[in-house]
Amino acid sequence: MTSGNGVQASDVLIIGGGPAGLTAAIYARRAALHTVILERGAIGGQLLETDMVENFPGFPEPISGQELMDRMRAQAQRLDTEMRLAEATTLESQGDLWRVTSTNGTFMARCVILATGAHPKELDVLGAQELKGKGLSYCATCDGYFYRDKPVLMVGAGDAGITEALFMTRIAREVFVVVRHPEADPKAIRATPILRERALKHPKIRFLWNQVVDAFRGDGRLESVVLRDLSDGRRVELKVDGAFVKIGYAPATSWLHGVVEISDEGYIRTDAWMRTSRPGVFAAGDVREPHGRCAQAVVAAAEGAIAAMQAAEYVSEGGG
Ligand SMILES: Cc1cc2nc3c(=O)[nH]c(=O)nc-3n(C[C@H](O)[C@H](O)[C@H](O)COP(=O)(O)OP(=O)(O)OC[C@H]3O[C@@H](n4cnc5c(N)ncnc54)[C@H](O)[C@@H]3O)c2cc1C
Repeated sequence: MTSGNGVQASDVLIIGGGPAGLTAAIYARRAALHTVILERGAIGGQLLETDMVENFPGFPEPISGQELMDRMRAQAQRLDTEMRLAEATTLESQGDLWRVTSTNGTFMARCVILATGAHPKELDVLGAQELKGKGLSYCATCDGYFYRDKPVLMVGAGDAGITEALFMTRIAREVFVVVRHPEADPKAIRATPILRERALKHPKIRFLWNQVVDAFRGDGRLESVVLRDLSDGRRVELKVDGAFVKIGYAPATSWLHGVVEISDEGYIRTDAWMRTSRPGVFAAGDVREPHGRCAQAVVAAAEGAIAAMQAAEYVSEGGG
């Protein structure tokens, strides 16, 4: 199919080549849809940042994030998915089609699957970049297992931080939770009351009130954190084997505001079939509300599959 301006239109244009986008491509190609993925960086998404994945079904032994995503990419390629290195910058309807402009040309499609993911917000302090993935992690559900019977630190006292702190009590010896407000402040722990109470009562959790992390230290691997007391500026060094940061997520949707319905936190709203507020535009994976709370590859992959099956139905019913 060719659009009015002579650009060849695909059946499905998938934005983002992480687990959601690649799985969507596998399902779309199996439905015989002409499928193109736009990826702005390396195909594979966030899992490229992690050493080992132990919870993706079908791999009884731990598999590196890189290898898992190489396999997913190979599967999509074997089924003849077209992959383009390009960052999508705008999305607009044009007649019956969708038009995406990117850093590498314009793409037309009958329908679009948004699978641009989200990134955990990172701490911008000394040592954070160097020790990321070497003791400093942004996902306890993913990496917590490696800290059996070790002391660990959690930064963040919202729902995600407290949930992960409680999760770590099953594995770690002791879990320190850094809170930037004094104990007397009723809003010091922002997590829902039930989580808050559970954490406050837990014998393995120790709250470090009114403190912030000033630096992560270690020679090639995290050995300690430097904490600063906000009341008097005093610094102390605390030895921990692992540190987890949960200070929120940043979904990759800045270019989609005003195009599809987006939550206050920046996530794309869909129904259970991954349909956004615009016909022919679907969303899947970490970018979808309320995905940030269960941001896992297997969930993203499942949503990619649903989105692609819905896209196939949309195309076969003459949409786009
Ligand atoms: C350190 C770490 C470890 C993790 N470990 C595990 C684990 O062990 N098990 C597990 O299940 N989950 C793990 N996760 C979570 C898992 O990686 C995510 O849930 C999953 O990757 C989400 O998939 P996604 O396809 O929705 O998004 P992503 O993986 O974020 O992929 C989105 C892709 O879209 C691209 N993109 C964004 N915007 C644009 C644009 N405008 N144009 C083109 N491309 C764009 C991005 O470059 C990216 O490649 C981990 C996450 C992190 C950060």
